[in-house]
Amino acid sequence: MKEERADVTEVFASHVFTEDKMERYVPAFIVAEYRKCLETGSSLSMETADAIAKGMKEWAIGLGATHFTHWFQPLTGGTAEKHESFIEPVGKGRVIMEFSGKELVKGEPDASSFPSGGLRATFEARGYSAWDPTSYAFVEDGSLCIPTVFFSYSGESLDRKTPLLRSIKALNKQALRVLRLFGDTETKSVTSMVGSEQEYFLLDKEMFNKREDLRICGRTLFGAKPPKTQELDDHYFGSIKPRVSAYMKDLETELWKLGVLAKTKHNEVAPSQHEMAPIYTDCNSANDQNQLTMNIMRKVADRHGLVCLLAEKPFDGVNGSGKHNNWSVATNRGKNLLSPGKTPAQNAQFLLFLSAFVSAVDEYQDLLRYSVSFAGNDHRLGGNEAPPAIISIFLGTELQGVIDSIINETSYGAQAVKPIKIGIDSMPFIPRDTTDRNRTSPVAFTGNKFEFRMPGSSQSISEPNTVLNTIMADKLGEFADILEKVPADEMNSALHDLLKKQFTEHCRIIFNGNGYDQSWVDEAKRRGLSNLRTTAQAMERYLCDKNISLMERHEVMTKSEMAAREEVGIENYCNIISIEAKTLLGMVRREIIPAVSAFEGALCRTLTDKIGIFGKDESDVEYTECLRLSKDNRELAALIEKLSASVDGAPADMTVATAAYYHDKVLSVMEDIRLAANDAEQLVPDGYWPYPTYRQLLFSV
Ligand code: ADP
Ligand code: MG
Repeated sequence: MKEERADVTEVFASHVFTEDKMERYVPAFIVAEYRKCLETGSSLSMETADAIAKGMKEWAIGLGATHFTHWFQPLTGGTAEKHESFIEPVGKGRVIMEFSGKELVKGEPDASSFPSGGLRATFEARGYSAWDPTSYAFVEDGSLCIPTVFFSYSGESLDRKTPLLRSIKALNKQALRVLRLFGDTETKSVTSMVGSEQEYFLLDKEMFNKREDLRICGRTLFGAKPPKTQELDDHYFGSIKPRVSAYMKDLETELWKLGVLAKTKHNEVAPSQHEMAPIYTDCNSANDQNQLTMNIMRKVADRHGLVCLLAEKPFDGVNGSGKHNNWSVATNRGKNLLSPGKTPAQNAQFLLFLSAFVSAVDEYQDLLRYSVSFAGNDHRLGGNEAPPAIISIFLGTELQGVIDSIINETSYGAQAVKPIKIGIDSMPFIPRDTTDRNRTSPVAFTGNKFEFRMPGSSQSISEPNTVLNTIMADKLGEFADILEKVPADEMNSALHDLLKKQFTEHCRIIFNGNGYDQSWVDEAKRRGLSNLRTTAQAMERYLCDKNISLMERHEVMTKSEMAAREEVGIENYCNIISIEAKTLLGMVRREIIPAVSAFEGALCRTLTDKIGIFGKDESDVEYTECLRLSKDNRELAALIEKLSASVDGAPADMTVATAAYYHDKVLSVMEDIRLAANDAEQLVPDGYWPYPTYRQLLFSV
């Protein structure tokens, strides 16, 4: 039977104001003016902005839009919007639909309720949003959404997009310098390309709503592991159930409308866990599109009576969700600079970019670790499923061989009789998809890109990519500084020396073995690599001179912008643990203790009846179960007192020490409560237990 589905080529980007739409709705000389501004970085004249706004409005109204909004990405990590209708009164009780260039270019949302990390004094609540013309506007839910940056009265960035854009600019600048050294005079710009694989759980909405922890915290705070979760590996890539399939189809269509290149969909490792991966695109668009994807995933789920859960670790003992960030560097002419080339010269350039990346990650491993640290991801990193909290790079045997040959000046491979001469010899063929692809590595080279696997499923990819772009820019800049001084005829040997030095100094970050193994933890320690297991530990390393100087040197962030992000991160961490603790307290006190007690009561009544008939027998199952239950209940009661005291005793100031307090004194008690509650759950029948269990939640859809 043929399915009824609209023509995808028609649907794709139908709700996006692409260049193609601009050409249709805006006069040609205005489009030319707009393109010139984009190229040179100059600002648009009001006349041009007005004409574009008019075209955008006409187009948006055609799709049923009645409102417009500046769409921005505050420090919360999500997106924000404030909708205004197009209506303009014209007398006699009539309105027309208006949208001016001024409204397109600049907005002034009241910023007082967004976290600013102290960047904005309360008396100066104003925040400004400004159009980012490098990302397309789109229509969603009746509103024309204009991607914008968000900043304070004094011009400091209050969002996640601005530093990302600045890092893209920095990478462009330094990468171009390196390309020029290789005689490339044609490339106009360089940017990072990103494809982020999005993992998620789908739960039945009714079931979800019965669990306060899921509703409030997005993750379960207790729950006994069902007899079967991912052990049989039968869910991964398994056939997709009809209800899930209907969701995925609907999701795809909505994403396509918004120009998101939704490409693959499949079941993930855990039951009820799935993944959607888009085709990669430029870093700025990929970031915006991932934000849109997360929003649309939640909305579409609601229409299907489902809840889309993006939390990193919603179920203890069950595989968690990440967001693999595939990252490469490409020119405006479509050449991937992380792709090993065929000729000796291409290979020399590839090896230079590769060594820049390796050195950058080694030098700034703590900064990269910081970029993925928050409460939700702490449950994932270092657990035996996600990459460990130790940063290392997997290169695979072929590349490792090349690097060894460079470091040791030994011959490479079976055919080679002499060491590889950079820029003179060809490098051996590097397969795109090595079969020994290491799944345990936090940063893996997969043939022509790096897959950074540490980001959490719920997080904005802007921060990890800001760091990747900036550290890469820094290393490329450092290399350019050295090589620009070298005469042309000495270039190959200078390149060779530089590569040898870099790979020798930074090879400790390369690890091709099993990252889940305890022996790696010991080995990493010997190599002097960081193992920052918690958000507090990662935060502590963030605001140091080295990182500040890096960010300031490339004009990505000022010290105060970084300090603001640290403050927001710490506050967010403490608030999340505090909310989780209070949720758990309520659930245990109001529902679990009484439920256990009620079942104990039932057992006692049965026991009393039995004693009346058979006399006392202490091996009676009612008796032994009752003892265990009442032990659990006593333990739960004592632990919630302890938790309550810990929460009350938390320091009020938002410092790294406070974050550490929440980890050591609050979260740890929550884990003890989880164990006691799980034990009780396994003894109490479903009819008495107040909440849906993992068994019910994970197999409900
Ligand atoms: P996996 O086996 O890890 O799922 P895929 O080949 O399906 O690998 O790619 C995963 C993601 O990587 C996709 O989003 C894809 O578009 C993206 N990707 C592929 N090539 C590149 C590249 N050169 N730069 C950035 N991302 C890329
Ligand atoms: Mg992958």
